[in-house]
This record gives sequence, C-alpha cells and structure tokens, in this order.
Amino acid sequence: DHMTHIFHRNPRQSLPVAVGGEGIELIDQSGKRYIDACGGAAVSCLGHGHPRVVNAIKAQVDTLAYAHTSFFTTAAAEELASMLAASAPGSLNHVYFVSGGSEAVEAGLKLARQYYVEIGQAQRRFFIARRQSYHGNTLAALSIGGNAWRREAFLPLLIPAHHVAPCYAYRDQLAGESDAQYVQRLADELEQKILEIGSDKVATFVAETVVGATAGAVPPLADYFRKIRAVCDKYGVLLMLDEVMSGMGRTGYLFACEEDRVEPDIVIIAKGLGAGYQPIGAMICSDKIFNAVVEGSGFFQHGHTYIGHATACAAALAVQTVIQEENLLANVRQRGEQLQQRLREVFAEHPHVGDIRGRGLFVGVELVADRASKQPLAPAQRTHAKVKAEAMARGLLVYPMGGTIDGRQGDHVLLAPPFICNAIDIDEIVHRLAPAI
Ligand code: PMP
Repeated sequence: DHMTHIFHRNPRQSLPVAVGGEGIELIDQSGKRYIDACGGAAVSCLGHGHPRVVNAIKAQVDTLAYAHTSFFTTAAAEELASMLAASAPGSLNHVYFVSGGSEAVEAGLKLARQYYVEIGQAQRRFFIARRQSYHGNTLAALSIGGNAWRREAFLPLLIPAHHVAPCYAYRDQLAGESDAQYVQRLADELEQKILEIGSDKVATFVAETVVGATAGAVPPLADYFRKIRAVCDKYGVLLMLDEVMSGMGRTGYLFACEEDRVEPDIVIIAKGLGAGYQPIGAMICSDKIFNAVVEGSGFFQHGHTYIGHATACAAALAVQTVIQEENLLANVRQRGEQLQQRLREVFAEHPHVGDIRGRGLFVGVELVADRASKQPLAPAQRTHAKVKAEAMARGLLVYPMGGTIDGRQGDHVLLAPPFICNAIDIDEIVHRLAPAI
C-alpha cells in the first residue's frame, strides 16, 4: 500500500492517516490517540485545534486571505512584525516574513552578502558554520549545514562555507578542561578559521543557539556565545543565529539567545512562530543592516510569492498573543525542569541512556551502546527509529534522529512537548517513553 500518489520522503513506509488533533493529542483513522510530545519537529507549541488560533485564521480568511507584498501590506503582518521587534533582543527590529525555516535562512544568507555589498566590502562572501548543524534543506542552507550525510548527494554545494566545532561539552570537553578553557578553545578555533580564510573575506558566522535535530537539543555552555560574539566583532563578521527550532519560547525564552545574553545581527525563526497552524518563518535583522540597505541601494534583492502572507501572519499573531497573555513561557521553564528531572530519575541506571540535556521544553535523550564509555550504538541498528516506533505503539510521538555524533553514528530522541502541558501530561510522557526505550 506504499503505492500512493503522494511522493512521501520514505515511500516504503506506510503511514497512519491523521484525522484530528485536540490539545496535546493527535488522532489517527482508527481512533487511536497519541500524545504529541515533539510537536512534529518542535513545531506545534500550542498543541492542536487551539480555538483562539483557529478563530483568528477563520476571521482573516473571511476578510482577506492573501495580498501580494509588492502592492499591499496588511494589518496582520504589521502587527506581528511590531510584536516580534518589541520582543527581540536589542536592535533586531526589522522582520522579513517567509514560509518556513529554510527560506528564512536563505533570506538571512542573502541579506548578509548584500549588506557587505552595500557597505563596499563585496569580497566578504565566505560563511563559517559549525559541524553537526542543520540550517535547512534548500541548497544554500544545505551548503552551510554541517551534517555530512545530508550534504553528500549534493556536493559540490552552492556557496563557500567552512566549519568549526559546535559547543558540545558532553562529547568534546577534554578531561580536566574547565568550562572557561573549553569555551576559549572554541572561540580560538573560530578566530583561527577567520584568519585562515582571510579576515576581510568572511561574511557571517552561523550557528543554532541550541543545536536541534542534528545533535539532539544541545545547549551551549554559559559565555560561549559572548566569546564568539567578541571574535566576530574583532573581525567585522556578522553573527547569525538560527532559532528555527530553539526560538519562539521553546527554551522558556522567546529568543533562546536571551539566556546567552548575546545579541546577533540576524536571527532566524520559524516552526513555533506559527505553531503549525500556518507555514511561516521570519528573518529578523538589526538596525545596522537594515539602514545599510535603506541608505544604499534601497532594495533587498530577494523575495518570494508568499512573503508576509496575511493568513499565515494572522495565525502567528494569534499564537504569539496566546503565549504572551497566558504567560506560557513560565510554564515552559517549570515543565521543562520537571521533564528533565523525571527523565533523570527514570533513566538513572539505564545502560543505554548516555545523556539527558536541553533547555525548557526542548530536551534530548542520547542513546548509547555503553553509558560509561559513551560509545555510540551501531548505526545499522537504527535504534532511534525503533524507539520512535515503540513509542508510537504506546501512543506517544517523539522525534527520532540518527547520525547525531558525526552524521553517521549517534542516536537520540527529541522531546518538544506543547507549552500547554501540565504536570500530569509530563509524567505521562515519561511513563510512556520509559518502556519504549
Ligand atoms: N534550521 C533549523 C535549526 C531547523 O531545525 C530546521 C528544520 N528542522 C530548519 C532550519 C529548516 O526549516 P524548514 O524545515 O521549515 O525549512
């Protein structure tokens, strides 16, 4: 029955049909209910069928579904942009709406290049990103991404990118090395890389604030991004943070980088912005970059048909209003602590659970062959996929990921439950996950 007319990514797999969603649950055609503990891939942060969001979408469609941005702006887009500009760190005040994460990354990469053209430094066209990172599947986003197996089939890629190590203390911090020494070593590596490429040739350093699907919710150590920011500033390199997964409240802060006390030049958001009710993403840039374009050519050389889509913006505006008015970020922080604590209790002695880490309701459980040595499981066993299937059989959705150490080895499951979860929901998630693992 895999011969459907939809080109599924994995055509040999047959999928249940989703027929409904209510709160934190999804329902399939047999009537079976699943707790959506990953929101797809950290998307559905308000759960399913939220009446305020559904009503906002209906009202927008009733009035005006879409108007092309070369002719009109809309109240929904303007209000959403104002809200994001007011909440974003520092001078990040200019919001460019697109339809998803990869598109937002593309917009950020192109704006970074154009910024340097505007200020007469067109030779700055190299990007530095990090190994084991994911920034999207379009060709430029893939070019900067650091995940080996995703890139392999498409080499040579589009834009020149170089990679340095991510901040992944559990695996990479040396024995006896202090946090401060480790962070300094990473900052030094970035500085070396900039000098190697040529300090006047580097456009932007790109990083996920908290590494999502390719490493499993790995937060940076304190001060990592402040040290990285200082290196960027020393050489006039822009800092672009990808918060497609970690942003919009997932970590307990609207922008994950607030916790790192760092202000990027460009921040990328998607997923939780529209919470899955509509496809939407955004690139937010600083006054400095925006002004360079306005005072220079006066035109951003980039665009898509659906930028600032009125219905998508209305949905996102409703989502973000609910999060603010219901003070859901406080709940994300509390429930996130509970989730990590419960996981630590349940898996304290488990031989195959190596690490539990994350921020807020963005938590990764790393599965290993041996807890003490941190040795990964054999990739051919596809343990992450088996855990996903076992969890699904028990009515629980968790996001599986393989290749989380070097693109080939490494298994983890990602938990990203909705912000509306209560304490009982969190206990139930762990209760179902334990036997699955
Ligand atoms: N950046 C990050 C950090 C992501 O996690 C993703 C999606 N998993 C993307 C970019 C790409 O977003 P999209 O799938 O919406 O294009």
